[in-house]
Amino acid sequence: MKQDIKSMNLAEMQALMKEMGEPAFRAKQIFVWLHKGITTFDGMTNLSKALREKLEEHCYITAPIVVRKQTSQKDGTIKYLWQLRDGNCVETVVMRYHHGNSVCISSEVGCAMGCAFCASTIGGLVRRLTPSEMVDQVLFSSLDSGLPISNIVLMGIGEPLDNFDTVMRFLELINSPDGMNIGMRHISLSTCGLVKKIDLLAERDLQLTLSVSLHAPDNETRSGIMPVNRAFPLEQLIPACRKYYEKTGRRISFEYAMIKGVNDTKEHCSRLIRLLHGLPCHVNLIPLNRVEESPLQPSTRQAVMEFQKQLEDAGITATVRRTLGSDIDASCGQLRRKHEKK
Ligand code: SAH
Repeated sequence: MKQDIKSMNLAEMQALMKEMGEPAFRAKQIFVWLHKGITTFDGMTNLSKALREKLEEHCYITAPIVVRKQTSQKDGTIKYLWQLRDGNCVETVVMRYHHGNSVCISSEVGCAMGCAFCASTIGGLVRRLTPSEMVDQVLFSSLDSGLPISNIVLMGIGEPLDNFDTVMRFLELINSPDGMNIGMRHISLSTCGLVKKIDLLAERDLQLTLSVSLHAPDNETRSGIMPVNRAFPLEQLIPACRKYYEKTGRRISFEYAMIKGVNDTKEHCSRLIRLLHGLPCHVNLIPLNRVEESPLQPSTRQAVMEFQKQLEDAGITATVRRTLGSDIDASCGQLRRKHEKK
């Protein structure tokens, strides 16, 4: 069984060098090559031929294949559909903002969470990604597009906290000064609300931004669209968010997809204001993206604006997310879904 070398951290690569009877400094040379996007051991020209052959024999280097690439004519957003080593596909989106380019990556093939409005979960969870497959999405979308990446959001396909150890390793690798060196403050992790994992994440005390997909201000509404709420209802989720803030000092960002007639009335907003009372946070309102298989409809522009104003009047900062790439199926799981259907 060959080993996935790009999923290793520096310490593990040093151990591997020791096993191969090589000096420890070779590990860093290999690490640097891998995180620059090299795809063959043969290209590692500062290593001896013998070592390159030994690596080839015992390890492999992941590199996804571009199955589809769509560029938005409206805003330059690029969406990649990648094929992984085992034939499974995941999506990555590169978004261009004036403060820098941001990449939205997937953490799993499919998703087990079952949210009613989300295309990623329709076929269930196929498998979790490896650390290398997460790094590759950042690395190869930057190399392919020629765009430097300054921000990462873990908001693509999958539930990152359902793949906890891998995501922790990914963060270590992507944050490494010998790798892509992306600062924790430039990374956001989005979760549907796996409370125990939020507690674990808080203990790590990282400086990343935690985004919580809230989407409803009461258990009845939330359980209706997000099955996870039955396992971890709001009376557990909100205290976990408070604890996260107290431990890390990082404001929580709440995602709220506005769905017509489901969660978008004045009354829902009042409940949301009560729910978030005293919690340093930010609310990100997202006009629902239509998913073919779902009957749910986006709220009207006016309902979104009124909701935002009501939050702001209550002292809660709220922004309306710009919809980028609406002409290229750039929301969660839609491209993979179309590809699988074919
Ligand atoms: N599993 C994680 C991250 C992936 S989804 C999570 O649940 O947070 C990233 C965000 O997109 C989540 O807030 C999710 O609820 C939201 N989302 C999914 N489908 C959507 C849709 N059709 N319209 C708007 N937002 C959607």
